Amino acid sequence: MKKYVCDVCGWEYDPAVGDPENGIEPGTAFEDLPEDWVCPLCGVGKDDFSPVD
Ligand SMILES: [Zn+2]
Repeated sequence: MKKYVCDVCGWEYDPAVGDPENGIEPGTAFEDLPEDWVCPLCGVGKDDFSPVD
């Protein structure tokens, strides 16, 4: 599973960690995040994230 980085603030989504504070279990792929999930730091949506190579 790929990591994704927020284009606005640089926060990185790591699927191995998830986003437990916002109800996202470890092991959740970025593609499987709910459409209303937002960056925990700056609040932008999934459209503003890019895959990390
Ligand atoms: Zn952000």
